[in-house]
Amino acid sequence: MTQNVDPAELEKFSALASKWWDPNSEFRPLHQINPLRLDWIDGICPLTGKTVIDVGCGGGILAEAMARKGGQVKGIDLAEKSIGVARLHGLESGVAVDYEVIATEAIAAREPGRYDLVTCMEMLEHVPEPSAVVAACAQLAKPGGTLVFSTLNRNPKSWLFAIVGAEYVLGLLPKGTHEYAKFIKPSELAGFARDAGLELRQLIGMTYNPITKVYALNRDTDVNYIMAFTKPAA
Ligand code: SAH
Repeated sequence: MTQNVDPAELEKFSALASKWWDPNSEFRPLHQINPLRLDWIDGICPLTGKTVIDVGCGGGILAEAMARKGGQVKGIDLAEKSIGVARLHGLESGVAVDYEVIATEAIAAREPGRYDLVTCMEMLEHVPEPSAVVAACAQLAKPGGTLVFSTLNRNPKSWLFAIVGAEYVLGLLPKGTHEYAKFIKPSELAGFARDAGLELRQLIGMTYNPITKVYALNRDTDVNYIMAFTKPAA
């Protein structure tokens, strides 16, 4: 099977791998949104005692936080350096997450139906075939399980905010982090999920106020958004 991965995308993240846990680095936005998304996920699927897989986990910012909340978490990514950093950080912080370098489709074939919760955050917009990742995530979930995806919407406002604003004006992210054509409308993500047999549960927007520098979850899904689905019980 040819892997559903863009090597140039992995390289972007590998080049920055040593900075994953520096809250003032290029990964600052992920650190800042982390408590918000963690609470939202925990509200939809209380983490204590749950088997969780974080797909495209990078350095483990969300994976570790979910483990601290009581989840039994596995993290996967195809960027080896990032997984190396995630493992080291886990050793330092004493939070046990089981990390592995493996493709989503490959682990789905190996561990189908194993997870109460599948999270895949800020990753689909970096992948050649996001629908295949969504299908693999659906395969990883237990019947009755929860899936959470976050990505960037595709419209003139998201281009202006996520690319021009974040990369060129405010410098929140390195130039070239995101490619507009790969952004995914909520309707498209819902379609991928429907095709994978999932039921839509909730959609919420995530905004950044450049004046107050505060991120928030709210009804504005124009730029960043998070969507939760249920895999119907068999
Ligand atoms: N999910 C993390 C990291 C987001 S950054 C968080 O939200 O904090 C995007 C991540 O997706 C990077 O770690 C990158 O290596 C990973 N990635 C990109 N393409 C991938 C692919 N095809 N398979 C697995 N991981 C991928």
